[in-house]
Amino acid sequence: GRVDNPYAGVKAYVNPEWSAHAAAEPGGSAVANQPTGVWLDRIAAINGANGGMGLRDHLDKAVAQGAGLVQLVVYDLPGRDCAALASNGELGPTEIDKYKTQFIDPIADILKDPKYAGLRIVTVVEIDSLPNLVTNTSGRSTDVPACDTMKANGNYVNGIAYALNRFGAIPNVYNYLDLGHHGWLGWDTNMDPAVQLLAQTAQASGSMSNVHGFITNTANYGATKEPYFAIGDSVNGTSVRQSKWVDWNWYVDETTYAQAMRQKLVAAGFDANIGILIDTSRNGWGGANRPSGPGPKTSVDDYVNGGRIDRRIHLGNWCNQSGAGLGERPKAAPEAGIDAYVWMKPPGESDGSSTEIPNDEGKGFDRMCDPTYGGNARNGNNPSGALPNAPLAGHWFSAQFQELLKNAYPPV
Ligand code: BGC
Repeated sequence: GRVDNPYAGVKAYVNPEWSAHAAAEPGGSAVANQPTGVWLDRIAAINGANGGMGLRDHLDKAVAQGAGLVQLVVYDLPGRDCAALASNGELGPTEIDKYKTQFIDPIADILKDPKYAGLRIVTVVEIDSLPNLVTNTSGRSTDVPACDTMKANGNYVNGIAYALNRFGAIPNVYNYLDLGHHGWLGWDTNMDPAVQLLAQTAQASGSMSNVHGFITNTANYGATKEPYFAIGDSVNGTSVRQSKWVDWNWYVDETTYAQAMRQKLVAAGFDANIGILIDTSRNGWGGANRPSGPGPKTSVDDYVNGGRIDRRIHLGNWCNQSGAGLGERPKAAPEAGIDAYVWMKPPGESDGSSTEIPNDEGKGFDRMCDPTYGGNARNGNNPSGALPNAPLAGHWFSAQFQELLKNAYPPV
């Protein structure tokens, strides 16, 4: 049967393809032996896209490494990435049958091979999608028509339920669903409907026990902990919740958000033993600009802005953030309710291109990856904070990797 926390007591698989990229960078060998997520981001990735390793290659290699756990991100929903363009996928909004038969079924067939029964296989199922249905649909100022389409046709929920059902039938697979991050869903008006949608989707899979955990901050930059201010702090009687940065959110970091989400998910009917993963691949925020103590109490904005380690221009910025560093190294059971710190997004792989680049991967150009962009409703109309000269989403971005190393916290 399954264990409570699949990360506990085992070594996680090191993806040799990512490792080779990291090791080839100056100073990169210091982290090249860390485990990272393997992204199944298109049908071709199952057998290996462009001559790369396929799913069986990774699993065979994991067995050969003597690893006890493999981390997969299953990411190819119809109408994928509805609120952005950088990772629009290969399947159109209505291609649910193709998703089931040409993507999920072949993955499930490989995962259930008895050769791999000794591996704990973590499947992070379709990041961003359910959170997008909560915050980026009609009735919100952040509405995106493509997300309305995916809400109306039901194919995000159907596709995820199908994947949970197929993978949940395999006893050594652990399904994790995405919680966005604190700067996305941390307001009650987002969190509560998100919990409801996650519960409905799990129920639609046949059983809520097909879900074994959740992940927050995937491929995002939110701090694991803000050491120099807390949600209960105030300045001259004004709560930090009223600062521009916090903007009435109930959480200031990923740890407090993850632990609160866990309680709400259990209350909504998920297993009491569920654990949360935090993606710490790029949320270290070290380097010369890291504050060393709280900000001044001259105003609530001075206090928060002077003390916050997350140096983004706005919490809604998500693409190739300038100033970011590697975060906590992957680690099992770092805190109550947290199954692991993970590097689900392989650090050094781009979030999206900073200019339009023609491609056959279904990747679009999202101006949130363009450093000259002035933003939209989803980042409060602020500059994007993105690094220049970025390649397509998922492609190796050497300059970003070097910055992540330089600004790592804990330092490398
Ligand atoms: C891209 C994927 C890639 C993943 C990991 C996503 O943003 O769309 O193609 O595999 O990031 O780098």
